[in-house]
Amino acid sequence: MNENDFPILLQQVHGRRLVYLDNAATTQKPQQVLDAIQEAYTTWNANVHRGVHHLSQLATQHHEQARQAVADFIGAKSAGEIIFTKGTTDSINMLAFSFGEQFIHEGDEIIVSYLEHHSNIVPWQMLCNRKKAVLKVIPLRADLSLEIEQYKCLFTDKTRLVSVAHVSNVLGIINPLQDIISFAHEHHVPVCVDGAQSVPHIPVNVCALDCDFFVFSAHKIYGPTGLGVLYGKQEWLEQLPPAQGGGEMINHVSFSATTYNALPYKFEAGTPNFIGSYGLQVALHYVEQLGREQVADYELQMMTYLEQQLAQIQGITIYAAGQPKAGAISFNVANLHPFDVGTLLDQQGVAIRTGHHCAEPLIDYLQVPGTIRASVALYTTKEDIDTLITALKKSISMLS
Ligand code: PMP
Repeated sequence: MNENDFPILLQQVHGRRLVYLDNAATTQKPQQVLDAIQEAYTTWNANVHRGVHHLSQLATQHHEQARQAVADFIGAKSAGEIIFTKGTTDSINMLAFSFGEQFIHEGDEIIVSYLEHHSNIVPWQMLCNRKKAVLKVIPLRADLSLEIEQYKCLFTDKTRLVSVAHVSNVLGIINPLQDIISFAHEHHVPVCVDGAQSVPHIPVNVCALDCDFFVFSAHKIYGPTGLGVLYGKQEWLEQLPPAQGGGEMINHVSFSATTYNALPYKFEAGTPNFIGSYGLQVALHYVEQLGREQVADYELQMMTYLEQQLAQIQGITIYAAGQPKAGAISFNVANLHPFDVGTLLDQQGVAIRTGHHCAEPLIDYLQVPGTIRASVALYTTKEDIDTLITALKKSISMLS
């Protein structure tokens, strides 16, 4: 990685060097991705799939190559299993609608966990309200890991789907997906994995995981906003109805009957974000060139250093302390409101996030008003962490 690859990080904020530790919310984009978007709009912008002309064919090629790049990146069997969406939230909503139409009936049960992002709670809750189905929740252990024995007890002959995060966006802890998925499969129940916080940090292979659906957002892995992925095993996607109607997702349309397109187009109504998919392809290539294992190892070193340094500050509570984490770590300072700490950190050029992080049930469970969350990326340095720690100590002394 070249230290100038992320131009936004070269600026000062409030007269200080910017230290960006809010990567779980969104990541910064390398120059290569910025250039790719500029190049797309300046040289081959044209609508995909429908055009015989040169630019349209180029745009189509780029978009379909991006689909293949995503399939390769997450180890999907074919590009037909990759549906482009607007983001993780959109992917889960689409799945909840489509899966719900086909498979959820009154009295059926869907399982999520206590530490989910709202995006992996509310769409299922809305589905349950529509269909008079039941949402069940995997509880947490005292150490904030999932209570897997209790998870197993939630299963009945009405269980239709499990949807869990791979990595918690608040705690950073990595959920035991192998156990969760293999148990669900023993009961012939499919599993959807919210990979928004895993794909940017740890190598993911959907075939090795054997998950049935996997969702993530491009903007959290150095790609553009407004683009996400819904992966589904072909045998599942083929059974699901389209979630939206419009152009592109049809085979033939008449007022008496409309037939739908093949996978993955059946799920992609309207003009897709083909500029975004090109940006994502370049972002994935950027990560691959650095080496996914190398990125994961490097970030783990940063996370370990960060946790060690935080643990030495008096009055700090680290949530899920000592557990293996990826990307994010949450903490609080005794007697201080996270918002006040976050504001003072910002004054010193350090961007972290405070609040409920769109995971209110978990925050309620912790019985705090919110947490302070620092989250790393492949460009995070030891110096960034040292700056955070110095700024944190100063903030605490100013507020105490
Ligand atoms: N799930 C998790 C675990 C997340 O961290 C996020 C983003 N904070 C989302 C879902 C929603 O992603 P998006 O806003 O990109 O749709």
